[in-house]
Amino acid sequence: MQDLQLDTLCVQGGYTPGNGEPRQIPIVQSTTFRYESGEEMGKLFDLEAPGYFYTRLQNPTNDYVAAKICALEGGTAGMLTSSGQAANFFAMFNIAGCGDHIVASSSIYGGTFNLISVTMRRMGIDVTFVSPDCTDEELNAAFKDNTKLVFGETIANPALTVLDIEQFAKAAHAHGVPLIIDNTFATPVNCRPIQWGADIVTHSTTKYMDGHGVSVGGAIVDGGHFDWMAHKDKFPGLTTPDESYHGITYAEKFGLGGAFITKCTAQLMRDFGSIQSPQHAFYLNMGLESLHVRVARHCENGQAVAEFLAAHPKVTSVNYCGLPGDPYHERAMKYLPNGSCGVVSFELRGGREAASRFMNALKLAAIETHVADARTCCLNPATTTHRQMTDAQLKAAGVPAGLVRMSCGLEDKRDLIADIAQALDTID
Ligand SMILES: *Cc1c(COP(=O)(O)O)cnc(C)c1O
Repeated sequence: MQDLQLDTLCVQGGYTPGNGEPRQIPIVQSTTFRYESGEEMGKLFDLEAPGYFYTRLQNPTNDYVAAKICALEGGTAGMLTSSGQAANFFAMFNIAGCGDHIVASSSIYGGTFNLISVTMRRMGIDVTFVSPDCTDEELNAAFKDNTKLVFGETIANPALTVLDIEQFAKAAHAHGVPLIIDNTFATPVNCRPIQWGADIVTHSTTKYMDGHGVSVGGAIVDGGHFDWMAHKDKFPGLTTPDESYHGITYAEKFGLGGAFITKCTAQLMRDFGSIQSPQHAFYLNMGLESLHVRVARHCENGQAVAEFLAAHPKVTSVNYCGLPGDPYHERAMKYLPNGSCGVVSFELRGGREAASRFMNALKLAAIETHVADARTCCLNPATTTHRQMTDAQLKAAGVPAGLVRMSCGLEDKRDLIADIAQALDTID
């Protein structure tokens, strides 16, 4: 199905029913699968034959949806995970372990920052963070002999910085390691990182892919271009026999296109078990069927709200790469020519108190710790996610006290702007 247009893949990718089979993907609500002989099942355990035996490892419903996301990203193999956190952890831990080092953009989702800087460090994996705006020299200086991967986000949550994917891919490849891109905010509708040189793409499907605030989930897609065997010593997990799988060498047996995801499923899903339930995969697919239609509307609303805010006297600054004055506008024109996302952040002249009063006065936009939902929502980091910080600390972290993050939903933009306008009228 790789030749079809993206919009068609959103609707029909990943699943082609045969004669008389269900038109919608079936929910295979079964933990296990029956076989006629032990020998047949043995072949599955040895990865000698494809097939299902236990849903922690693979389930047909999940595989249909993973195949759709894989096609959307232009990859060669994909898998679902129980959350975006699990997707990012699996993608990195699949190739980096104790004694290794990773290079990551400092402008990433808070949960991923914590995963890398605290939890993975406790596992013996070191990290060097670099600015998404670093020079080639600064980026190259971050690598060490034991560096195993580079990580970044296409559009960072919540900073809304845009990554120069080609720059980061070039540096990663020059050091013989892959680039992993979290493409949650852009979605493949607006950017396909593999086309720009990324090797592995991850998603929190909880956001736009689900799009309705229904289910937490994640996905990993392999672009199938990174040659593990050309860097044999760096990636022994892929290039030498796995004794826990009868001496299989993943890169030899499954090649460029299949090695990464097969190892990730066979080892990490087997051992950590962060599988998505088939029911959730079904909900996710419902979201994917309209992803291309919804993302365009989220962007239209985000652009209109950003333009309205940028012209308002009570707003000191607006972060939205769709605005010509935004520091990331030029990069967005290259990587996100059709739009970025529906999330806009802005600072109010009156600081923390104004932000609080403004948000309380909104009628359509709800105060939520969420983004990328059909319903518009907003958050003031200073009084919620970052409330332990002083005003000075907030400023240093790039999250001023008066900053509001608004995720524009699918409502009519005239109603959203009217709601914002009346709420701004209530503050000084
Ligand atoms: C939300 C988010 C995550 C974490 O995903 P969960 O599904 O909440 O585990 C990771 N990366 C980005 C960019 C996100 O926005």
